[in-house]
Amino acid sequence: RAKQGGRNQVCFFTREMNREALDLLQLDSSLRNALQAGDFELHYQPKLQCGRGAVCGFEALLRMRAADGSLVPPDRFIGLAERTGTIVSIGQWVMLEACTQAQRWREAGHDISIAVNVSARQFRVGNFVDEVAGVLARSGLPADALELELTESLLVEDPEAMVEKLKALKALGVHIALDDFGTGYSSLGYLARFPIDALKIDRSFVAHLGRDTHSTQLISAIIDLGRRLRMRLVAEGVETPTQREFLERAHCDELQGFLIGRPLPAEEAARCLSAAVSADADTPAVASSEA
Ligand code: C2E
Ligand code: MG
Ligand code: MG
Ligand code: MG
Repeated sequence: RAKQGGRNQVCFFTREMNREALDLLQLDSSLRNALQAGDFELHYQPKLQCGRGAVCGFEALLRMRAADGSLVPPDRFIGLAERTGTIVSIGQWVMLEACTQAQRWREAGHDISIAVNVSARQFRVGNFVDEVAGVLARSGLPADALELELTESLLVEDPEAMVEKLKALKALGVHIALDDFGTGYSSLGYLARFPIDALKIDRSFVAHLGRDTHSTQLISAIIDLGRRLRMRLVAEGVETPTQREFLERAHCDELQGFLIGRPLPAEEAARCLSAAVSADADTPAVASSEA
């Protein structure tokens, strides 16, 4: 049996490989091959802007298409790719693919933004800012339509260097969001020092809304904190109408979660955009086929 901690990274591969042969190099070359072969794909999960009741953007979420046609979720391979460094190439592919898709939607008349998850290793490479600038140039996406999702832990390690990098990204015009906010190690001091545009409230808090008074109070406090620091508040993992109502009443800016829409391949995700345009209205914009 694989150890619990490493389970996510290896279990997909173990069926085809001898346990003894499981070493990082082999697993890593599978990832590189998958990238070469075009086995990675992005799914897009909508974000609803509370005030307008319309889809204002998508988060790009990475999946790997396995040989049997099934989809492998990112938790199974991102950790490994981080350890070997292959996340840097994978991340470059993700960024270009996501920005290119978002620009296609924009050219079709939809004023949407795209959020891309950036891993610590990817962010730390020397030329990350140039990479981002290059992707914007190649895709034609305006910088302010791109939001990079970073985690708190990334900022803690080398705060001085990180501040400089974030400032350079801000100078390009891209937005910065802190993902899974509330679960990391952040000292609140970082929030004031870093040029952060948005906080994504971790779904563990949202899941307990209404059931556990501490989570409920915490969300209210996070929203208040973000508002005072002039940040946008995005709630992740919104699954029930009760959660949605609470978050809307608390003046959360954007909602994301299965209630709004699941991550879907580009063509399917786009349906919620056409719906929004044709209805141009207060009707919930998102296809509910999977809800
Ligand atoms: P994340 O960025 O916090 O993404 C949110 C995760 O929650 C996604 O899982 C999404 O499918 C899931 N989710 C969204 N709404 C709901 C909901 O209402 N209920 C529940 N239970 N789950 C919901 P996913 O796609 O498996 O991604 C997991 C993590 O993998 C992401 O967490 C992110 O940290 C990482 N990841 C995904 N794509 C990339 C990528 O392109 N690059 C990097 N570096 N990391 C990625
Ligand atoms: Mg994210
Ligand atoms: Mg998150
Ligand atoms: Mg998360």
